[in-house]
Order: sequence, then structure tokens, then C-alpha cells
Amino acid sequence: MIKVDNLKLPIGHTEDELYAKLEKELKLNKFSKDLNTSGYSCRIFKRSLDARRKPELFYVYSLLVTLDNGLEDRILKHVRDRNISSYKPVIYQSPGESGSKELTGHPVIVGAGPSGLFCAYELSRRGYAPIVIERGERVENRIETVKKFFLGGRLNTESNVQFGEGGAGTFSDGKLNTGVNDKMGRNRYVLDTLVRFGAPEEITYSARPHIGTDILALVVRNMREEIIRNGGQFLFDTRMTGFEKGDRGIENVCVVNDGNESAITSNCMVLAIGHSSRDTFKMLKDRNVDMEAKAFAVGLRIQHPQEMIDLSQYGRTGKGGPGPADYKLTNRTAGGRNVYSFCMCPGGYVVNASSEAGRLCVNGMSYSGRSSLNANSAIIVSVNKDDFKSDDVLAGMEFQRRLEERAYTLGGGAIPVQEYGDFKRGTLSGGGGSLTPQIKGNYKLADLRELLPDELNEAIIESIDKFGYTIEGFDRDDAILAGVESRTSSPVRILRNDNYEGSIEGLYPCGEGAGYAGGITSAAMDGIKVAEAIMKKYRPAEAGR
Ligand SMILES: Cc1cc2nc3c(=O)[nH]c(=O)nc-3n(C[C@H](O)[C@H](O)[C@H](O)COP(=O)(O)OP(=O)(O)OC[C@H]3O[C@@H](n4cnc5c(N)ncnc54)[C@H](O)[C@@H]3O)c2cc1C
Repeated sequence: MIKVDNLKLPIGHTEDELYAKLEKELKLNKFSKDLNTSGYSCRIFKRSLDARRKPELFYVYSLLVTLDNGLEDRILKHVRDRNISSYKPVIYQSPGESGSKELTGHPVIVGAGPSGLFCAYELSRRGYAPIVIERGERVENRIETVKKFFLGGRLNTESNVQFGEGGAGTFSDGKLNTGVNDKMGRNRYVLDTLVRFGAPEEITYSARPHIGTDILALVVRNMREEIIRNGGQFLFDTRMTGFEKGDRGIENVCVVNDGNESAITSNCMVLAIGHSSRDTFKMLKDRNVDMEAKAFAVGLRIQHPQEMIDLSQYGRTGKGGPGPADYKLTNRTAGGRNVYSFCMCPGGYVVNASSEAGRLCVNGMSYSGRSSLNANSAIIVSVNKDDFKSDDVLAGMEFQRRLEERAYTLGGGAIPVQEYGDFKRGTLSGGGGSLTPQIKGNYKLADLRELLPDELNEAIIESIDKFGYTIEGFDRDDAILAGVESRTSSPVRILRNDNYEGSIEGLYPCGEGAGYAGGITSAAMDGIKVAEAIMKKYRPAEAGR
């Protein structure tokens, strides 16, 4: 296979123009006789956007080309160019061998977010017939529940934006980029698997892949159906409340469904519980499972007109071109705080992402078309135990809770919002700006200065003002702030050893909640790693039945 990098074409180019450019770079006219008989195949490996000459925009491609008859070697010898090289794709291979330890029952996976789903999918493919326990509803019902909540209905504390099939990312922008560089090819495998279950092919080559909440829900359902076809089971509306252990580790997983308690016999339990399962963190602490406190970040979500972001990034609108523009901003404040934009949602909505009664937090989501009027992102500040003022392992979680209680009170149960100019000046003018808030859930004007500690407010103001130099208008008075963004990552890490087991044998901490991932793709990759560790240790479930 030959990889051709750096093929640059205006964004409106045709497919023929791309092929013509490729053939010219590879000097294929010199090999036309051989090509007449065998031809070649080509696929996009990566496509990124070059906006350095805005408003002229270009796509920059890396293409993978396959040719027959030893032609690849001949071409590589003939065309000496640093953008053209031989390429061997890394194709993820699930480990071939199974372990010898007998499974009592089936592996139990707690949580049907990306880490739990991918763990279950991998185990089911190899005959391990996992049981997936999910405290929330199946995705079809969850969508209805969340829709009602956004329209002002009561919060369902078991099935909401954080909890339910698909996990925390189901009502999201579905951004799939990750900084994790996996030499085994798990990253690409995750994207290919999502495509297999309904995601667009484009996510496998776009430099900034995203799915959108509408398509994510479909992918999640299709994955569940395949896991069931492979022999797996799903128990929805079922919460893991604890476990029983003997001398040799986990023996039973305790669950509750509709008030009825029961135990599932298993010596293998995956904790893919996400970053918001606070009652479960508390239970793990009470049961002396080894955990440590972890730094995370908190802040406010900000909205701007998408057109303003497009103009700054592209010099033109993204409509009819590359689509709405995104951004990534960071600042180190004079006081030494790291402030950065997080989970930017082009053409998106701010959503009420609460999961506990009397507490409120926000996040962002987009549909696949990213067509709302506003761009939003969280502007967050790193916090650690100096901010929590306690050494307790759950001090970060309690810190989140206090902020969320304040947010709830400030908005009287609705999302508290304020224009940036008011926030900066400490006034509350009534919000007469030109932006139309794009928010899912009720919202109410409030003084957001009362939400975060003063030092964090100052860090956010200093940073938003600085970001105004990078993106013109970022610091405009009528940008809309909403709070509180508190669920950016897990407040704890559940410790695990090199075999991916926690401090109790048969207990597998996994994904974002356990502190081993940050985002949909890395959580899914961690689910695969945990499945590999389980397969290495245990014989498949069928053999153990
Ligand atoms: C609104 C929103 C937008 C986001 N946008 C993006 C984005 O665009 N891109 C991105 O990469 N990331 C995004 N994220 C983050 C992303 O969702 C998480 O990183 C990812 O979902 C983590 O996967 P996970 O499987 O580790 O945990 P989760 O997805 O949180 O899944 C955990 C699951 O476990 C269940 N559970 C918890 N405790 C129990 C229990 N005791 N018993 C039974 N079930 C239990 C929960 O109900 C939940 O479904 C977003 C998050 C939110 C909330």
C-alpha cells in the first residue's frame, strides 16, 4: 500500500479532481500500460482543513493507494517524494488465546456507556456472553425521558443525560477525536465499529470526527442488538448496589430493579460506571476498594453566534462548505491557573445535564447537522485538593455537588444564565443582547458570580478577555454564560494493576469514571483493553456454564 500525504485541493473540489491530483503525484501516466489491466484502489486515510489563507479554504488529504503486480515498489522507486511512502496498516487483532480460570456465571459489566458497550461487544464476539447492567433506560425510552425533562418535566435521577444506555455521551456532539495513540490500532477499530453500526464513513478519516446525538442513539441500539445476537444480555433500569466477595475475590453482584434486590453470581465484574455515579463511588469507598482523588476542571459554558466563529476561523460562513467552525483555546492566568475551552460544540445546544435532585450542571450537544445558531464550549479551570480543602478521596465529588447545589438554587431549578458583560462587571442588566440562547432545558437569568469561588471567576474573566484576541468577539458583552460545568472528568481514579484488576480480584475498573479515559473514543478503547484482560484470564462463558 502506498500512502500519499499533503494532497491539497480547494474545499469545493470534485472527486475527479482528487483522482487527477493523486495520479499526477504518483506519476501514474508512466505506468498506464500496467494500470490498464489492473487499475488501482484508493481510500481516504485522513482529511483536514487548511484555513491559513482564509477565506480560501483547502482540504489536505492523506490517501492510501493499493496497486497490483509489484507496481507499488516500482512507483515508490520511480517517485522519490517525502509525501509518498510505503504504508502497512495496523489492523486491530483481538488476542487469540483465552485464559484458563473458570467463570462462575457470566462476566457482569456495570454501565452501558462507550467503555461498557465496547467491553461487552468484544467479550460477546468471543463467546463470553456478558450481562450488561444499566441503571438507566434503553436508549429509545431514555430519549423520551430526556426530551420531557428538557421541556420542564421532573428529573429522572436514574435515566437522564448522564445515565442510561449509551452513557454520558449519548446526548453530545459525539466528537470522536482522542489524544490516545494506540499502537495496536484500537482507535481505528473503534471508529470502524461505529461505522459498522450506523455512523457515517467520514468519521474514519476526518481530522475532527463527530457523529451527533441523533446518529449516536442509532449506533448504540444497533450495537446492543448485535451483543444480544452474540449471546449477551442487557438488564436496564437495574442498578448495581454492591458486591459480595470471598477469599478469591468477587462472588456476587448485587442489583436492584424496581425496588427488588437480587444477586447475580459472577466472579468477574467490570466497573464501567462513568464519572457521575456518585452513590456507586460512595459504596466503593465504604467497601474499601482502592481509589484516589483526581484533579478535574470546572467552569461555565459560553455561547456565541456560530457565524462569528466561522468568520474568525474561516473568514466566511461554514454553510455550504466545511460546516460550522470549531476552536480550541487555552490560557495560563497570571495567578497560575490553567483555563481552557472544553467540549466545543459547533452549531450546538447547551443542555441541562443534571443527574441528582436539587443539583444542576450543564454540558453541550449537537445534532449531526450542527445547525443551531450558536457555538458553545465550556471555559473551565483545573481544580485539585487545594480547592476541595479536604484530603478525603471523595472531596472532589463533594466539591462538584456544592457547586451544583448553588447552580440549582440560583436558577430555581432552571439553568442559571448571564451575559458575559454583566458577569464581568458584576451587574444583572436583564440580558438584552442579540444572541438567541440555544439551550435544551429551562433557563433563568441569575448572577453567576455567586456560583464559583472568586478566584475561579477571575481566572475565567481574564481568559475570556484574552480569547477575544484570538477569536474576535469572544469577549463580547452579550455572549451567554451558563453554569455550572462540573462533570468534565471523574473526580476519582479507581486503582487497577497491570492486569487491569482493581484491589479485589475479579473487579475491573474501566473507562472514564474509573479515571482511565477522557471522552467517547478513549473510553471505548479502554473497554476493549479490559475485555482483552478478561479474555486473557478466563475461559469463555459457554465453557463455564
Ligand atoms: C452532554 C455531554 C456531552 C459530551 N460530549 C462529548 C463529546 O462530544 N465527545 C466526547 O468524546 N465525549 C463527550 N462527553 C464525555 C463522554 O460522554 C464520556 O467521556 C464517555 O461517555 C465516558 O464513557 P464511559 O463508558 O466511561 O462512561 P459513561 O458514558 O458515563 O457510562 C457509564 C454508564 O454506567 C451507568 N451506571 C453508573 N453506575 C451504575 C450502577 N451502579 N449500576 C448500573 N449502571 C450504572 C450509567 O448509567 C452510564 O450509562 C460528553 C458528556 C456529556 C455528559
